[in-house]
Amino acid sequence: MDPVGVAAAAPEAGPGPAWQSKNIYFQCPWGTPKTTSISCSLADVMSEQLAKELQLEEENAAFPEVVAVAEGPFITGENVDTSSDLMLAQMLQMEFDREYDAQLRREEKKFNGDSKVSISFENYRKVHPFDSDSSEDEVDWQDTRHDPYRADKPTITPKKGFIGKGKDITTKHDEVVCGRKNTARMENFAPEFQVGDGIGMDLKLSNQVFNALKQHAYSEERRSARLHEKKEHSTAEKAVDPKTRLLLYKMVSGGMLETITGCISTGKESVVFHAYGGKSATEEDKVIPPECAIKVFKTTLNEFKNRDKYIKDDYRFKDRFSKLNPRKIIRMWAEKEMHNLTRMQNAGIPCPQVVILKKHVLVMSFIGQDQVPAPKLKDVKLNSEDMKKAYYQVLNMMQQLYKECNLVHADLSEYNMLWHDGKVWLIDVSQSVEPTHPHGLEFLFRDCRNVSQFFQKGGVVEALNERELFNAVSGLNITAENEVDFQAEIEALEKMNEDHVQNHGKKVSTFSTDGDPPIYNE
Ligand code: ADP
Ligand code: MN
Repeated sequence: MDPVGVAAAAPEAGPGPAWQSKNIYFQCPWGTPKTTSISCSLADVMSEQLAKELQLEEENAAFPEVVAVAEGPFITGENVDTSSDLMLAQMLQMEFDREYDAQLRREEKKFNGDSKVSISFENYRKVHPFDSDSSEDEVDWQDTRHDPYRADKPTITPKKGFIGKGKDITTKHDEVVCGRKNTARMENFAPEFQVGDGIGMDLKLSNQVFNALKQHAYSEERRSARLHEKKEHSTAEKAVDPKTRLLLYKMVSGGMLETITGCISTGKESVVFHAYGGKSATEEDKVIPPECAIKVFKTTLNEFKNRDKYIKDDYRFKDRFSKLNPRKIIRMWAEKEMHNLTRMQNAGIPCPQVVILKKHVLVMSFIGQDQVPAPKLKDVKLNSEDMKKAYYQVLNMMQQLYKECNLVHADLSEYNMLWHDGKVWLIDVSQSVEPTHPHGLEFLFRDCRNVSQFFQKGGVVEALNERELFNAVSGLNITAENEVDFQAEIEALEKMNEDHVQNHGKKVSTFSTDGDPPIYNE
């Protein structure tokens, strides 16, 4: 999010309906370069997941003694993707990094000894908390009820001790014997799979390495089979990481969604999919809409860093913000979008209806029909009558949002308004804040500028200018004649509020106004 201007930021990446789009790439948690992607359809990915699980089951029955290592950073069961060499290399790197961190922890302990004041080496760690697969991270922080979509993990094993040589394999078998056995087992891999010269040598593969290779071999095998047999599946998307894929897969297998048909949009911060709703209801017995939009907040963390200011000053989330790791902060965006949509729904503002939130995946009703999403205001050509109608509707929605929902959209523009059923629908509200947010009024002013410019350029002569619109929405009466002074007054108001918070520990409930804002109607 660019704080300087929404219009300039032009947040939408992919143009238009996207199932034709061929340039959606697999987002691996480490940010895989585009070239490593292999294309296959989402449905394919889903069934591959199933295949993988079944395969593993089968395999474990066939070689019960093989998988003595049930844990470690590599093989934790289903949601491990070893389908690329890069991934494999990264897994190995991760293992090295973990060993490094373990050593660091030992040194930290030694350094601090029994001293009351201890020094933390945390900043020197290679594997940061959000990279680690800590069990704590698997807990759905916002939802303590039973989670039917949570991955069925093998019973959580205690954190690895730091004794030994780092590769602390929990095996009953002698390492050397076991290693030789593993090497021999490579013969079971598909003939096309390159295992190198290891088989002729006295090579001892650790269980971890063997297991990773094994998974890699199987997925390679399946991939090659798939490529040969289903060329038509070459379009769709590997736009989400393995954990997200599993979440989506479980929504389908659990019957909440019928099918996920394709990707509507890939933005910097989210990927949106279209799905047909399933027959079974959610936990809250909500009926699933016939068509759904699934917004997956990207777990690649970079883009979210500069969104900090929206959430860290939002008192609703303040306490939690400081305690959370970045992955959880991303879930918080999803949660924020859900709460904001709910408020809007309650006020009767046309917007997607929340179906369910699972971690960083938000399912909502689809605005559009037959897989075709409603066009954005920026893309639709309205006649002057509809344009005028849209303007008054947007004006009223902005007032409702402010007064009834106590929200400022904060990314309002023709990019986040859809035209559907003869009216404007507001979307994309994860960044919306309350007006008393330290920058709330600035965000509102920016929204007003976007809206005002859009409708004025669109030929709506009645459209208020940005300053008039700001006053009309907020009910404030800022009289400054030019933009610079106007903004200065806005910032002064925000500062007054902040001072109030400093001195009284709470926000002024609303900014004082000279009565209600005028209601504008056609
Ligand atoms: P971003 O942060 O990536 O801009 P948005 O919430 O704006 O996320 O979604 C991106 C695009 O996906 C939108 O511009 C819209 O075209 C489409 N989209 C999002 N939600 C829905 C929905 N509920 N129904 C139909 N299309 C949607
Ligand atoms: Mn958007």
